[in-house]
Amino acid sequence: MKILVINAGSSSLKYQLLDMTDESVIAKGICERIGIGGHIEGVTNEGCNFSYDIDLPNHTIAFFEVKKALTQGECKVIDSLDEIAAVGHRIVQGGATFTHSVLITEEVEKEIGELCELAPLHNPAHLQGIQGCTEAFGKDKPQVAVFDNAFHNTMPPEAYIFPIPYEYYEKYKIRRYGFHGSSHKFVSASCAQQMGKDLKDIKVITCHLGNGSSITAIKDGKVIDTSMGLTPLDGFIMGTRCGAIDPSVVTFLQMKEGWSREETCTVLNKKSGLLGVSGVSSDMRDINEACKNGNERAMLARKIIAYQIRKYIGSYVAAMDGVDAIVFTGGIGENSEKLRADICSNLSYLGIKLDEKANDEFIRGKGGKISTSESMVDIYVIPTDEELVIARDTKDIVNSLN
Ligand code: ADP
Repeated sequence: MKILVINAGSSSLKYQLLDMTDESVIAKGICERIGIGGHIEGVTNEGCNFSYDIDLPNHTIAFFEVKKALTQGECKVIDSLDEIAAVGHRIVQGGATFTHSVLITEEVEKEIGELCELAPLHNPAHLQGIQGCTEAFGKDKPQVAVFDNAFHNTMPPEAYIFPIPYEYYEKYKIRRYGFHGSSHKFVSASCAQQMGKDLKDIKVITCHLGNGSSITAIKDGKVIDTSMGLTPLDGFIMGTRCGAIDPSVVTFLQMKEGWSREETCTVLNKKSGLLGVSGVSSDMRDINEACKNGNERAMLARKIIAYQIRKYIGSYVAAMDGVDAIVFTGGIGENSEKLRADICSNLSYLGIKLDEKANDEFIRGKGGKISTSESMVDIYVIPTDEELVIARDTKDIVNSLN
């Protein structure tokens, strides 16, 4: 069975075609600059790659281009779309409505639309992805929605209720939802497997560190807390997002700077984080480079990220009354050995001993254990695979239809 996985952003569309008989990737690629120009690039499992500019005024046209890339030209991997059993979409916000993956129907589409106000930067783009897919692939192609917050559904109320008047939870379902669920699910399962244990028998802290970052505490196979909240803005410093700050900072600046709601959202989501502190970039590689050149604000940004992650780890150890393993994943978690070392160097109270050689070695898609055999807590680098989680759920739902 072949499954196409789609991650639609506001101006991008990432795709991955998987063969579920052995869970291998047949082809993957990305359409970029949708609505503001257009570019597509991709690669197949045979190493055939392509990259060209093409006008992509909307997501539907982008889907037609993906269809062309998969079925035509020298990099084609299938003869027709009939070979694709179903399409799985990553959906960031499923709110309280969706606690697991579902087949997309008109009703589901409507409900994803209603959740746009809880994820204004993500859900509208996902909807465009679903609609573009329906137009380009036809109404009969089953589409499945896999929600980023579904894995966090086991969180207890003391972790997800915000201490504001309870009526707002009842009225608007304002609560902590958590995101990156497919990633936390994948790496925690893989961690248990590598430890030769059942996830139900271990306490794990998973650190997904990318442009957006979140940390999750998992105990008895259940999420007991996670750093992102109502939206992916909560938690700790990210590429351009501030993470948790004193809410009074927001009202103070609104008063002083006269910000509207939109301006406030833009500053907190797009101008803060590593970019805001360093003034250099939101990209960890640029921050590292600036640090090498002695840029003090870049050094401060790097200190903040290590410090805040350490604080989260400490608080989740307290929340779970211990920890057996810590996992690093995401672009930064998988590649920045320096940050991993900084974080672990101040966790000696947990009996953590980093294997420096392994830590230096496990980068660029290579994962494994980076703690020594004497370490009281196992530390792992595990490259995430959110697409595989989406493809597996999509396959299960399609199988259940038959
Ligand atoms: P997204 O959240 O958009 O999926 P990724 O998980 O791809 O993002 O992570 C992007 C981040 O990973 C960027 O900050 C980037 O600088 C960082 N990154 C990628 N490669 C490296 C590297 N070799 N060293 C340090 N950071 C890296």
